[in-house]
Amino acid sequence: MRLIFALTLVLLLSACVHQRVDLIVHHAQIYTVNDEFNVAEAIAIQDGKIVAVGNNDDILKEYQSDSIVNANHAIVYPGFIDAHAHFLGYGQSLYSVDLMFVPTWSEAIERVKLFAEKHPGKGWIKGRGWDQNRFPNKKFPTNTALNLLFPDRPVLLERVDGHASIANDFALQLAGVKAGQTIEGGQFTMQNGKLTGLLIDNAVGIVEQKVPAATSNDYKDWLLAAQQNCFATGLTTVTDCGLSPHDVDIIDALQKSNDLKMRLYVMLSDQPSTYTSNYFTAGGYRTDKLMVKGIKVYGDGALGSRGACLLQPYTDKSSWSGFLLSSPAHFDSIAAKLITTDFQMCTHAIGDSANRTILKVYAKYLKGKNDKRWRIEHAQIINPTDFQLFGDNNIIPSVQPTHATSDMYWAAERLGTKRLKGGYAFKQLLEQNNWLPLGTDFPVEEINPFKTFLAAVSRQDEKGFPAGGFQIENALTHEQTIRGMTIWAAKANRMEKEVGSIEVGKKADFIILDKDLMKVPSDSILHVKVLKTYLNGARVY
Ligand SMILES: [Zn+2]
Repeated sequence: MRLIFALTLVLLLSACVHQRVDLIVHHAQIYTVNDEFNVAEAIAIQDGKIVAVGNNDDILKEYQSDSIVNANHAIVYPGFIDAHAHFLGYGQSLYSVDLMFVPTWSEAIERVKLFAEKHPGKGWIKGRGWDQNRFPNKKFPTNTALNLLFPDRPVLLERVDGHASIANDFALQLAGVKAGQTIEGGQFTMQNGKLTGLLIDNAVGIVEQKVPAATSNDYKDWLLAAQQNCFATGLTTVTDCGLSPHDVDIIDALQKSNDLKMRLYVMLSDQPSTYTSNYFTAGGYRTDKLMVKGIKVYGDGALGSRGACLLQPYTDKSSWSGFLLSSPAHFDSIAAKLITTDFQMCTHAIGDSANRTILKVYAKYLKGKNDKRWRIEHAQIINPTDFQLFGDNNIIPSVQPTHATSDMYWAAERLGTKRLKGGYAFKQLLEQNNWLPLGTDFPVEEINPFKTFLAAVSRQDEKGFPAGGFQIENALTHEQTIRGMTIWAAKANRMEKEVGSIEVGKKADFIILDKDLMKVPSDSILHVKVLKTYLNGARVY
């Protein structure tokens, strides 16, 4: 009798043995973004990783947790991954005057005034983003108004492309700049025998070097502000394209002290200190949250400022084709150095000539099919005969859909309509390797991943312009776009075994949305809200 009782008890216990986990999310519509693009209902998470994906009944029967989230049929996606951005630079921009898209110089001055009121004292006021092409007269500004407002506080306002700045007289004085002074590769602009405050190229550096170096507290402020905004918009991994080893030291320390939680993939800038740093000599660096495995190389400039290197002259500036930022021999030497390492070569190339140069250098070393994951950042304008070089050599085009919808207003002026057909050609680029990572390049664009989604599927900006989409033949499908913002972005960073999808064994980075991106009409995409963001199974937003 006693034996039977004991046996029954054992049977009863084993029937309801629940495996304890840290978190269960159920009654959700979970886009796993696995190979089959399966949709599940529930997940179980333990130690920051996904341990089960399935339907409500099975997960709730098998697992038990003190933390159970009923999602009430909300939508779950893997956390968004931005394949090309400037995380640190974005954080920094949040602590300076935002002059992006100002329509007039007086509006710019207003913003500087507001900033100064919020940040009183005598410290430097820095700003960034003005573009005289947006002003009614399209003329470069001068520092007259700034001198009146700030006679004893230095001000330095950078143009959107970083190739020019306006400094007030006080900043010029601190830098010891005198009227009539000259500099190689730059200009201190004069008018009626006086400095106007406009600094071109190398002249900017003369004033810039007087700005006090950032402290580690400054870095902390920048990075945490950037992180907060990124989590709020559903980003759980960001690719930072072009940091110094010193920047990475600070990021690593802040992650280790658990102040900074954002998962980052870092490309080190192609500069001498990179190649002597431990990050490089040790063959890369990785922790749970940080991976340093890329080298960011700078091929050419941007299309807007006509710095992109083209095969034929600009349509709106004959006899000018832009230029490469280094010689082809330099790109070749970097490729020769990196081909024997595990580092990914990631080169900025916008113009069709820059792209051709880099594609050929890559092809010379990659020699056909390979898994080195070398990338071309932007891959913006491609000559029709060059597309195949991507596929033939498994070169990854890393593209930013919102660049298409920002540039579409003037890109045809620069390129002409025929050449523009090979621009922002995301579908054609996707067909090369059958996958394509997507990013934003923030803070050049906004961080908002939903704008990326809209630009990729509808080729429209936030105004819904243009009706029917810009070069709509190069739109991506909804599924391709989701993959581009998650698993394919992870793959471009060689992180696809850890993040980018909701599968057993992966890190539990996921987001809960109020509406389903796969189903909302175009004009509602920007209204989709992030309800919650989880990183390593912990809620961060
Ligand atoms: Zn960039």
